[in-house]
Parts: sequence; structure tokens; C-alpha cells
Amino acid sequence: MKRYSVFAIAKQAMNYHLGWERAWAAPEPKKHYDVIVVGAGGHGLATAYYLGKNHGIKNVAIIEKGWLGGGNTGRNTTIIRSNYLQDPSSAIYDKALQLYENLSQDLNYNVMFSPRGLLMLAQTHHEVRGYLRTVHANMLQGVQTEYISPAKVKELVPIINNDGPRYPILGALYQPRGGTGRHDAVAWGYARACSAMGMDIIQQTEVTAVRSEGGVVKGVETSKGFIGCNKLGVVVAGHSGQLAEMAGFRLPIEAVALQALVSEPIKPCMDVVVMANTVHGYMSQSDKGEMVIGGGTDGFNNFTQRGSFHHIEETLRALVETFPMISRLKMLRQWGGIVDMTGDRSPIISKTPLGNCFFNCGWGTGGFKAIPGSGWAMAELMAKGEPGPLAEEFSMWRFKEGKFIDESVAAGVAH
Ligand SMILES: Cc1cc2nc3c(=O)[nH]c(=O)nc-3n(C[C@H](O)[C@H](O)[C@H](O)COP(=O)(O)OP(=O)(O)OC[C@H]3O[C@@H](n4cnc5c(N)ncnc54)[C@H](O)[C@@H]3O)c2cc1C
Repeated sequence: MKRYSVFAIAKQAMNYHLGWERAWAAPEPKKHYDVIVVGAGGHGLATAYYLGKNHGIKNVAIIEKGWLGGGNTGRNTTIIRSNYLQDPSSAIYDKALQLYENLSQDLNYNVMFSPRGLLMLAQTHHEVRGYLRTVHANMLQGVQTEYISPAKVKELVPIINNDGPRYPILGALYQPRGGTGRHDAVAWGYARACSAMGMDIIQQTEVTAVRSEGGVVKGVETSKGFIGCNKLGVVVAGHSGQLAEMAGFRLPIEAVALQALVSEPIKPCMDVVVMANTVHGYMSQSDKGEMVIGGGTDGFNNFTQRGSFHHIEETLRALVETFPMISRLKMLRQWGGIVDMTGDRSPIISKTPLGNCFFNCGWGTGGFKAIPGSGWAMAELMAKGEPGPLAEEFSMWRFKEGKFIDESVAAGVAH
């Protein structure tokens, strides 16, 4: 695989850019692999990448029923931050943020990580108390974050209305290292690096059953036939319940559609990410100039990938009162993704009742930011057969044991 560089661009420019090779190969599946990862979203691809990079396991297939990055990874609003409340959460999200900081260099692919700063507005006294608690917890965890005044909010976001009709802005939780990345590029960068290591990314191939013998996984049935493996990693977000059923157990997870929308492009007007949890909406501006707007989850379980009118109305009502200048903007597109929600709003990175079968899921409305850290932790679990320090608290059995990692406040608005 050729390296991308300024010299490569100059060389290709002289040949009308006809010499670029495909970013990743499209192989037919082999009969057997050391490891199969089901799901070529960011988390599945990152798992495969760190299996190769950190543990030298490269005889790997990543099996994807659609196209890579076509699930939630290519549908999210790309918010990245690490100021979660509980110790296990801030550890894995901060590991992810640290990896994001050098991901473009590591993958030799521009993932457009943009640490432009992220504000979570406090609009009730309850939120003020909650965010101050998070700041104190983050200080103890070594995660840099701060609580800022309404005046500082206005300085950072001149288009904001501090005295909204329903709730005034009382301050904000601010993480200057937070920001956004380019979701497709994260999937594409990992895919290209996996392919360069000799891994097979097999798209348009659905896993339909899990085959096991004596309580140990032997491989998967797919729409292209049986493919054997020594170890199986399942990283399928909203479809985790179905794959768990195929593997013979149940997971405490629900699938719900989460929605987003995007406006027509306008000139630069906001260079930070703002989340308004009380009125419920969040917004950033993409490099193209579109305002990227996140809504909420549907109030019922479903597997649709569509938006709906009532969510647009609810989300835009919240954002128009927060940013009155967007009231005349046209909205261009809306969509949904199938997110995997656990009861404590924290992920599962876990061994399972089936031998050599591992699950990584439950990232719900906020897993884009976790992709590098999650892949790192899942690869360690799969390579060693036991969780490392990043994953050990995220076992699926915590729900049985009552050891919840409660992030329901941190993840109150999507992310
Ligand atoms: C609208 C929206 C906004 C969001 N905003 C943010 C945000 O701002 N910040 C943030 O951190 N997170 C956000 N998220 C959450 C984030 O997108 C997800 O947590 C993350 O992308 C999950 O990645 P994944 O790799 O686990 O899943 P996915 O990207 O969904 O990948 C799973 C893959 O598994 C495949 N698959 C499923 N079943 C099978 C099968 N049987 N066989 C083969 N393949 C299968 C699917 O086709 C899919 O490609 C948002 C999500 C949505 C929907």
C-alpha cells in the first residue's frame, strides 16, 4: 500500500491522478481465519486494526452486511469528548481522545480531527451542580475540563442567546480538547490500514448464524457460506441483540433510532461544538459550512434509519431559542441510525457465555468518540482472552451483579 504524502500527490498530479490504487481490497472470503470480526463500523475496524498493530494477529476477516461505515459510524454527528463522570468511562473515552489526537498520522489518513472545544450548557441549577461534580471527578481522573461562566460562553459562541425564553444559560461544562472528526474518514482510514496489513474486509455479506461445538465458537454462516474462525468478535451496534441470539444468549440491550439533520451551508459562524441538554439539541458547523444538528432517540424500539417530522420540530425549537440566527436556515437532510442502548448507558466489552466469542456493543448515542479506545480495548480482550484495564469494568455480567456504570446523566442528550 503506497503512503499518502505531499510527494505522492505531486507525483500523481503529473499523471492526472490516474495512478492511485484502491484504498482497500475486495477479496472473496477464505475458508478459515484466526479471527472474524462481524461489523465493519468504526468499532469493528478499529478492533481489527489494533489486533494487527498491537498483538500481531493479522489473519483477520471483517464481515459487513452492507458497506463499511454505512451504519451509525457514517450517520453520526461526530462529537468527540472525554469528560464523562465515572472512572471506567473517562478512562476509555480519554484513551480514545488521546488516540484521536494522533490518528491521522498513525493511519496515514486524514481523519480531520478538529479539537475546536466543546460546551455542554448548564440551563438549570440541577445541571450546574451536575457539571461541577463532573469537573471535580475529571480533575481526580486527570481529564482536563472546566466549568465556565455565561460571559465566557458568550465570548466563545457570539451567536448564542444567553437569555432564552425558557431557560437562561447559567454556565457550561467546557472541554477545550473536545471537538469533532470526519466520521467516514475514520472508517476509511482504519479500513485502509487493515487492508494494508493483509486483513480481508468482506462487504455485502451478512452473518446469519453462529456455529459452535462443545460451547466454543467454530465460525459463522453467512450469505456467502460458512467461514470458520478460532475467535469471533461481534461489533454490530443496533443489531447486537440478534447476533447474541444467534450465539445462544440474550443481551440487556435495546435498539432505538437516533436522529440528526443538517442545514444548508453558510459562512463560518460557530467554531465550537455546543450541546444544550435541557432544551435538547446540539450543533456544530461542518467544514463545508452546514450546521450539523443532533436530535433525540425515538421513544420506542425500532430498526429504522429515517428521521421524523416531530423530532425535527422538537430539535429545531430548542436550537432556535438557543441560536435565534438559525431561524431562517433551510434544512437539507435528516436521517437516523440504529443505536444500541444499555440500561446504564455504558458499553459492553465482554467475554460471553460462548467460548472464544466476544461482544463489543452498547455505545448507544455516543460511541463515535470512543472508536479508537474501544478498538484498543476489544483487541486486547480478544488477543489475551481476558479484559485489560480499559475493558474490565464493562463486562456484560455487571447487569446481573448490579455493578452499573451509570452515565445516564452524561449521555442525557445524545453524547
Ligand atoms: C444520528 C446519530 C448521531 C450520533 N452522534 C454521535 C456523536 O456526535 N458523537 C458520538 O460519539 N457518537 C454519536 N453517535 C453514536 C455513534 O454513531 C455510534 O455509537 C458508533 O458509530 C457505533 O459504531 P459501531 O462501529 O459500533 O456501529 P456501526 O457503525 O453501526 O457498525 C455496525 C455494523 O455492523 C453491521 N452489521 C449488523 N448486523 C450484521 C450482520 N448480521 N452481519 C454483518 N454485518 C452486520 C452493520 O451493517 C454496521 O455497518 C450517533 C449516532 C447516531 C445514529
